[in-house]
Amino acid sequence: MNEVPAFPLGLRLEGRRVLVVGGGHVALRRVAGLLESGADVHLVAPQVEAALFDLAERGRLHWDERTFAEQDVDQAWLVFACTDDPQVNAAVVAAATRRRIWCSRADDALGATAWTPATARTGPATVSVMSGRDPLRSVALRDAALAAVEAELHGRRAEPRRRRPNGGRVVLVGGGPGDPGLLTRRGYERLAEADVVLVDRLAPLAVLEGLREDVEVVDVSKVPRGRFTPQEAINDLLVRHALAGRTVVRLKGGDPFVFGRGMEEALACADAGVPVEVVPGVTSAVAVPELAGVPVTHRGVSQGFSVVSGHLPPGHPDSSVDWTALARSGLTIVCLMAVHTMADIAASLLADGMDPATPVVAVQDGGLPSQRVSRSPLSAAADMMARERVSAPAVVVIGAVAAVSRGVPGLG
Ligand code: SAH
Repeated sequence: MNEVPAFPLGLRLEGRRVLVVGGGHVALRRVAGLLESGADVHLVAPQVEAALFDLAERGRLHWDERTFAEQDVDQAWLVFACTDDPQVNAAVVAAATRRRIWCSRADDALGATAWTPATARTGPATVSVMSGRDPLRSVALRDAALAAVEAELHGRRAEPRRRRPNGGRVVLVGGGPGDPGLLTRRGYERLAEADVVLVDRLAPLAVLEGLREDVEVVDVSKVPRGRFTPQEAINDLLVRHALAGRTVVRLKGGDPFVFGRGMEEALACADAGVPVEVVPGVTSAVAVPELAGVPVTHRGVSQGFSVVSGHLPPGHPDSSVDWTALARSGLTIVCLMAVHTMADIAASLLADGMDPATPVVAVQDGGLPSQRVSRSPLSAAADMMARERVSAPAVVVIGAVAAVSRGVPGLG
């Protein structure tokens, strides 16, 4: 069939009233997109889905709990007829059209004055596809276009996303080193939106107290071994909850992308077509030394720092760290997960010619009431770790910066 193509346009809806009539899943989809565009959403429906009810309760939209009335369209810039009653939808389009207000209609494209494209946003780009009146074809084309746009933007392999149910998403939140005061504001905002929170041992667990009663909290540091390795089990949980339409917050210690396996989780979500957001966190690599008064760089002392995982000792066949290069780099060395390997690390650095007097500081439970700071020269680091019974979690800093703050009251 030959159709005159629609004219595409980007509407700047911020602060502008948009009327949505209907309270079901179609309305929910529209509302979600409209809110993302900053629209002042007015919803008219005798009943609404729980998610819409929740948005109304939180003041994100204005809900009139009743059936549609002609004058509802009066103040609107744009109208969406999303009820499951064709007669009501027709009445909404008619009322809007009489006032020359554009109106999209969920059940009958030809009966509408505007079409809603299949849309997705990625970074700076918005992908919108209209392909005749077949919404499923539009969605498929949109997914293909989105994959191509993402490949262009991020250099990722172009792979069409799978479809997903409404609303479900995953937010990887960096929780900082453990003190709830070091969780970002956005982290708190996302936690307030969560239906499910998956937490790690090292995340700031104190924030869990502040969650809504009905939020499901899963301690994934205890996910038992089963069909999957634990990380796969966590990925699987994230995806499953999100595909069920939930907002899943993955609350991690420090920053999600610093030895946090955050990208593995993000990729697992992407593969399942689940949208992911990352909220960076205060990493223990910088913050824990800092809380003990140790700057990872200091003018005249250190012009940089390397953050290394010590979970494998130097020389281990699976280790890809060039410890010899580190020993000669002149950079501060910040070791995470190195409590059990510090003796090997110190021996290796000494063998590579590092000054035995190089200051070392181990900070255990940084930012927590139990924080402990232990110091020694590199030559005695192994003894110090054993004598002081330094245990995980601890950050060990090797380099002259470890001594610069000594004597400053309140620091270290
Ligand atoms: N993503 C985290 C690091 C995860 S690896 C981050 O960015 O901070 C776990 C290691 O982080 C621990 O073994 C320890 O070396 C360090 N760590 C995390 N929290 C800590 C804390 N409060 N005090 C000391 N070390 C901590």
